[in-house]
Amino acid sequence: MSYVQGRVDELAGWVAEGDVVVLSGAGLSTESGIPDYRGPSGVARKATPMTYQAFTRDPIARRRYWARSHLGWRTIGDARPNDGHRAVARLQELGLLRGIITQNVDGLHQAGGARDVVELHGNLARIACLDCGAPSARAELENRLRQANPYFAPGAAEINPDGDAELDDGELDGFRTVDCTDCGGMLKPDVVYFGETVPPGRVSRSFELVAGARTLLVLGSSLTVMSGRRFVLRAAKDGIRVAIVNQGVTRGEPYASLIVDAPLGEVMPQVARHVSALYAVET
Ligand SMILES: [Zn+2]
Repeated sequence: MSYVQGRVDELAGWVAEGDVVVLSGAGLSTESGIPDYRGPSGVARKATPMTYQAFTRDPIARRRYWARSHLGWRTIGDARPNDGHRAVARLQELGLLRGIITQNVDGLHQAGGARDVVELHGNLARIACLDCGAPSARAELENRLRQANPYFAPGAAEINPDGDAELDDGELDGFRTVDCTDCGGMLKPDVVYFGETVPPGRVSRSFELVAGARTLLVLGSSLTVMSGRRFVLRAAKDGIRVAIVNQGVTRGEPYASLIVDAPLGEVMPQVARHVSALYAVET
């Protein structure tokens, strides 16, 4: 542990200097009960995420998605922020963060007290109509899905971080999806599917944050997906130091000057305590 401890202390020193940009991934939410796509080995699990093309073009794929997502929402919707999320919010409160960028769609940064979070891949709690653009709340949609499917009650299933649950096609029989109450159009969670691009405004905002950072702090991301890895590449190119706290293998290794391979729910509160103590002494 002393080897990890030394690195945690070094990280706290970096964070105390301020202008930190946090880039978080699924590993930050695993301690809230939301499983990662990849285990500590970094090997992808069997789940195939929904693609935008399949969702919009294939009614059966869409029905399968909503049935599984309706099931998965029980886990995602009930998830609570963990000590890692709260520690990030604390660092923000201390004025040490330049920004928070997340690849997660669970809203747990905000639930943990953070503000102004750039949600690269959107948020499962929001629904949008693909035809008229009307936004609506997930809770409302869940009520409508429950009413439309009063007898849908499959057993416990494996849940993925995008809210998708494993479910046999046999269990889908008769599942009814619901449409936009305004125009009857197609509803979709306000999240970026595979095959969809992250809205340019979010990407440019993120690059802007990273460009002015003193430290890019990656939390719980294996950086397998380019949508997150590109910020690490940019930081490294611009000479901005990169720190990674992640359990298991990460593709950011060649670019990071500090890596802590330990649970985020333990490391981040230590960093926050360490930094808070420094501030208490100074003020
Ligand atoms: Zn509509």
